[in-house]
Amino acid sequence: MNPFSLEGKVALVTGANTGIGQAIAVAMAQAGAEVIASGRRDCDETLALMGSGRELRLDFSDPMAARDVFASEQIDILVNNAGIIRRADAVDFSEADWDEVMDTNLKALFFTCQAFARAALPRGRGKIVNIASLLSFQGGIRVPSYTASKHGVAGLTKLMANEWAARGLNVNAIAPGYIETNNTTALRADPDRSAAILDRIPAGRWGRPEDIGQTAVFLSAPASDYINGAVLNVDGGWLAR
Ligand code: NDP
Repeated sequence: MNPFSLEGKVALVTGANTGIGQAIAVAMAQAGAEVIASGRRDCDETLALMGSGRELRLDFSDPMAARDVFASEQIDILVNNAGIIRRADAVDFSEADWDEVMDTNLKALFFTCQAFARAALPRGRGKIVNIASLLSFQGGIRVPSYTASKHGVAGLTKLMANEWAARGLNVNAIAPGYIETNNTTALRADPDRSAAILDRIPAGRWGRPEDIGQTAVFLSAPASDYINGAVLNVDGGWLAR
């Protein structure tokens, strides 16, 4: 058996219509999984790139949106990738922006994991991969709810790993560095900020969505069965510096 294969597994990837989520879905399909690509909008492009798979519309502005998803069919792998960011100085930050980010990035992630676990624990196996951030470890600036939510993702990943590891569930997270997606278009368009970021990355390049996709495959495959509660930096060395 190839320990890196996802053959025979069903994987649900949230926020799979673009960016990192799309790359994760495609990498998992290439590794042999049947992928359910989930988004608020359609996932047509992702389905075309995968050449297989299915779509499921979920909107995590309702944190309980995925409550019933795992009861109706066996899903072996859950990737919580959907996420948003809102920017303003801490002194001006609005309650609406706080709530929207925390609901989407943290509350929906937790209750989706809970729904998955309720179905997977009786089977005694399952893999959860949560998408965290550099801002699970650093403070950042002008992104208070994002930083709080991503610190929360790292903490919850460890808590869920503690509670569920002995019962066959692997819960881990990936902390991406600066990745070329829509999320970072504005940063990359600013020559000074873009150059400053690049200068601080030991690997000498921005991350590509595929860098996260391959890591997600690893954390979903048998090869990572003894990894529990890890928050794996995939950042070209940013945090090592
Ligand atoms: P994008 O903005 O390109 O994609 C975000 C995805 O999340 C989209 O598919 C979007 O779907 C989905 N999403 C947002 N809100 C909701 C919602 N309410 N319900 C369902 N889906 C939703 O971002 P990235 O690909 O860059 O980011 C993906 C993840 O990686 C996020 O969690 C982000 O925080 C994290 N990350 C990204 C980094 C980067 O440098 N790019 C660095 C560190 C972490 P839709 O378009 O339908 O709204």
